[in-house]
Amino acid sequence: MTSLNCEARLRLPNLPSYIGLIVDRLQSFDADVRQEAQRVGFRFAFGRASFDMKPGLLVMRAEADDRDGLARIKDLLATAVQVYAKEDGPEIIWSGDLAGDTRLAQFREMTVASVCDLTPHMRRIRLTGEDLQRFGKFGGMHVRVLFPTRTVPDPIWPTLGSNGLPIWPSDERRPAARVYTIRALDIDAGFMDVDFLVHEGESVGSAWALQAKPGQKVGIMGPVGRPVRPADWYVLGGDETALPAIGRLLETLPAFTKGVAFIEIADRNERQAIGNATQIELHWLERNGKAAAMDGRLAGEVLSVQWPRDGSTFGWFAAEATPAKTVRDHWRGAMGLGRDQTLAAAYWRRGAAGLMAG
Ligand SMILES: Cc1cc2nc3c(=O)[nH]c(=O)nc-3n(C[C@H](O)[C@H](O)[C@H](O)COP(=O)(O)OP(=O)(O)OC[C@H]3O[C@@H](n4cnc5c(N)ncnc54)[C@H](O)[C@@H]3O)c2cc1C
Repeated sequence: MTSLNCEARLRLPNLPSYIGLIVDRLQSFDADVRQEAQRVGFRFAFGRASFDMKPGLLVMRAEADDRDGLARIKDLLATAVQVYAKEDGPEIIWSGDLAGDTRLAQFREMTVASVCDLTPHMRRIRLTGEDLQRFGKFGGMHVRVLFPTRTVPDPIWPTLGSNGLPIWPSDERRPAARVYTIRALDIDAGFMDVDFLVHEGESVGSAWALQAKPGQKVGIMGPVGRPVRPADWYVLGGDETALPAIGRLLETLPAFTKGVAFIEIADRNERQAIGNATQIELHWLERNGKAAAMDGRLAGEVLSVQWPRDGSTFGWFAAEATPAKTVRDHWRGAMGLGRDQTLAAAYWRRGAAGLMAG
């Protein structure tokens, strides 16, 4: 098979001060990294990349067997550079295969097919769209959902820029973005299910879910997120926003997988049926009247779990920012575990809109 190749040459005077951060970020997408003198090679499940470094200059090369793979690698490299090389104002222009492409590989316009209430506060919305294979690739479980809003009822969807990143319309036509989990994906039937927590306060995602009707359009971009590492044993923890991800993991991890999972919900009416295919023990923690994120038990329960000494192990946690920080600090600090064994993420922050959707 002939592979697709492209290259970008970037003027980055301060590269030595942040190259380590860029490499570390890319490695976290399950890349095998080879570093020698002024060259770094990356091997991802979906393609390859390399950095050649000269004084003030970074030459990035990407190679993959298909369009989706190449687009994914360009996006990962360009995003890492934009995040860490801000001080150098990098200008990224890719040459080579697919250089003039303006179709954003990670974007799909989707149509609401059905809406159903799983519990009083959890709405499952089935979205149909074309060519959804990509959303089962790369190990990312989530999507950025692009919504019309009251102020932008008729948004313009993003296109692909020459830097490999999305180009967005001006604010008057820009859709509002929020991050959600693909609860289930059926590529052959052309749909994905997304479970929306209906929560209090002014919002975009929750408000949209409340009024959603068959035939309405949203955009999605993805998949996003790092792969969950395979392991024999897991400790999983999360609140309602992580329930779709934990539910999907329990339904799809191999049957021999052991461990323990804690899910915090408002009260017993929010329990939902999960087809747990694993030997992971599931515990529901009910707040029973306390506001979301104001019941400190979730982080405490997760941190009190004894990790086995034998076999491969992984800790996965997602909730409001404060408990997520407590768990991350403990796993990374007191327990000295690395990114390869833990993922503790803030899925929302009390009082802040659109966390992680930027
Ligand atoms: C990787 C990832 C995956 C996620 N998957 C899901 C998912 O599958 N389903 C899901 O429902 N959510 C999920 N979330 C969380 C969701 O993105 C946030 O809750 C988001 O803020 C919802 O957007 P919104 O427009 O409804 O509220 P925003 O406009 O973002 O916020 C408005 C107000 O509501 C508050 N708020 C936000 N979330 C909550 C909450 N859970 N409880 C109480 N108050 C809240 C905010 O603090 C703010 O004050 C995920 C987040 C991430 C990062």
